[in-house]
Amino acid sequence: MQMLFGKSCVICHADKLNFRKKKTFLGLSSPENFFCENCGSLFVEDELKWKLIQIKDKFNPIWQQFQQKSFYVREWVDIVQKEAVGKEGSLV
Ligand SMILES: [Zn+2]
Repeated sequence: MQMLFGKSCVICHADKLNFRKKKTFLGLSSPENFFCENCGSLFVEDELKWKLIQIKDKFNPIWQQFQQKSFYVREWVDIVQKEAVGKEGSLV
């Protein structure tokens, strides 16, 4: 599951994805998350799914449709692929 995500960012495909392990600090724990240095997308672990909670470009169509939503990695890959296909289609 994490391999797919660990290689490159599902949003922008940049190879700048950082994985942060679960941290506990002063009794507060932050969930495992992925952060992309290129597009600023931040995914947090949500019961085996990944929730998109942040991105630099708030006009990104994926952000606008799927912010604060949780999907499995393969579902995110699917969503981004469909979005890319949709863009090509609209040019015709
Ligand atoms: Zn990215």
